Amino acid sequence: MSGVALDARPIGIFGGTFDPIHLGHLRTGFELLQSLQLSELRWIPVGNPGHREPPLAAAALRLEMVRAAVAGQPGFVLDEREVRRSGASYTVDTLEELHAEHPARPLCLVLGMDAFLGLTAWRRWTDILELAHLVVAHRPGWQRPEQGLLRDLLEQRGTTHAADLHAALAGRIYVHAVTQLEISSTGLRDIITSGRDPRFLVPEPVRAIIRETGCYAAQAD
Ligand code: ATP
Repeated sequence: MSGVALDARPIGIFGGTFDPIHLGHLRTGFELLQSLQLSELRWIPVGNPGHREPPLAAAALRLEMVRAAVAGQPGFVLDEREVRRSGASYTVDTLEELHAEHPARPLCLVLGMDAFLGLTAWRRWTDILELAHLVVAHRPGWQRPEQGLLRDLLEQRGTTHAADLHAALAGRIYVHAVTQLEISSTGLRDIITSGRDPRFLVPEPVRAIIRETGCYAAQAD
């Protein structure tokens, strides 16, 4: 592949509260990095989510956990911009910044199916599709929409060809069947709060941070 073609590979963006980051996030990101041939996958912890309850763990700690989780994986990059920004975090602002920084690179915003089903409530959601492709990862318990606006969007913009994400800067929707791992941050917080051990659901360095800081609750040995 020529240098020019390599430069044109899309940048993946995986945003979330990551309260805490878990293997469902990481395996999904890894499979997408490889199968879509992304040049990198940026992990962007939300600072102050405008649309949901504030996270339990402080932003600095969530950053620390994501940093520990992605360390050593080529192509995984922690991007701190939403935590550093003051005020509520909005994905559209982040995409505008990234597009300004990389005007010739396709952007691929990764979402679980649950998040995609809520897309029309996001701030300036139609602008999001002007700025990025959506890569929707199947998630246990969630089905693709069978009616309404999102079903229509999938019909109009959906593609099963990863090459389409390289050929345009934004606007396509790619649904990808990643390995189904039924792990959620909510479930993890419940496990920890009830004194059980999140081993094998989060990377060991993240488990160590949770244990050392007691950020969710004391945890059994
Ligand atoms: P919570 O339970 O607190 O809502 P979560 O586990 O859904 O947390 P988030 O940080 O809110 O994690 O999710 C960030 C993104 O990761 C969302 O797009 C979500 O759909 C996706 N995601 C979360 N868990 C999984 C999973 N197990 N498999 C695939 N995608 C996931």
